[in-house]
Amino acid sequence: MSARPQPRAKVKAIPQYSRAAAGRAVTWNVSSNESTVPPSPAILEAITRAGAQAHLYPTLTGEELTDAVSARVGVSPEQVVVGGGSLSLLQLALTAFTGSGTEVVHAWRSYEAYPILISIADADRVPVPLDAAHRHDVDAMLAAITPRTAAVMICNPNNPTGTALPDDEVLRMIEAVPRDVVVLLDEAYREFGESRLDVADLVGRYENLIVFRTFSKAYGLAGLRAGYALGSGSIMTSMRAVAPPFLLSAVAEAAALAALDDPEHTTHIVASVCQSREAFEKELRERGLDVPPSQANFVFLPVADRALELEQACAARGVAVRAFAGDGVRVTMGYPGAEAAVLEAVDAVFSISEDAGRSPA
Ligand SMILES: *Cc1c(COP(=O)(O)O)cnc(C)c1O
Repeated sequence: MSARPQPRAKVKAIPQYSRAAAGRAVTWNVSSNESTVPPSPAILEAITRAGAQAHLYPTLTGEELTDAVSARVGVSPEQVVVGGGSLSLLQLALTAFTGSGTEVVHAWRSYEAYPILISIADADRVPVPLDAAHRHDVDAMLAAITPRTAAVMICNPNNPTGTALPDDEVLRMIEAVPRDVVVLLDEAYREFGESRLDVADLVGRYENLIVFRTFSKAYGLAGLRAGYALGSGSIMTSMRAVAPPFLLSAVAEAAALAALDDPEHTTHIVASVCQSREAFEKELRERGLDVPPSQANFVFLPVADRALELEQACAARGVAVRAFAGDGVRVTMGYPGAEAAVLEAVDAVFSISEDAGRSPA
């Protein structure tokens, strides 16, 4: 027996983040919900300017972006924490408020990073199945709360199904969660949806609520890693306490600031997604697929046990999609060519084309 360091017991059981099936030539990568629009000239210029200062450390806690977000959202700077993407901020919250012996309630299927982050925090996950409409099952999630529950996660709109709870259902859930349990409301796709929740008001009213937003999707900066969290002053203090110093790079901060100052760019990204999404959902429904209405920058094809087959058919047409075995396939919106190719793949898999000789399975 050779002695070697052993990680904490749960480390070996941490699930891996999946990637699009590799191998074939990929013409369109629509597997990661990235924006299809590159940075605007103004954002690029900010990146270049910040890059020229790359020999210097950024500010300790991203003060400039904190101030800009606080002004934008209408909360005080003490109610904002910025960081390198909302994933890292979710991790800070889980680190500060959960841990060994605690449980985290979350919907499933939902964002595949959640089981990873919860495991890293050494907490136990309590997945609660989505309802028949692929939405969070509010009553079932509330019923899953026990004295060990330290956090409840809400992914709204939900990744990968694109579904969103109506605002009054989100409010009902927040209201019903015990005040000593943190509610992590992940709004990564908010800009693509219909929610009008006033989060400034909410984080003022609910001291156990943390809202997460990102620059990765509607602002088109996934490669730079920037996001923010909103919550009560005391909650944010705890998150800052567990944050490694210099969490946000100076280049990411500069780009995020420039993106906030360039609303036309965001509008363009959101508009191109919505246009693609509407047309694509319509085509799929015409083919008899019961597609859940998406409020995100992707569409979920609930093809259940045909998911891997459809993924292969897409790959054969140069499109990398994200397949969730047994559940469905997620397609990022914004490349009309990719959407047309996926429709072809759907027709091939389900033998919908006019001259189909194969029988539908
Ligand atoms: C993409 C995504 C994020 C964003 O993560 P970043 O770290 O900000 O890039 C967060 N939550 C969900 C549900 C997502 O799909």
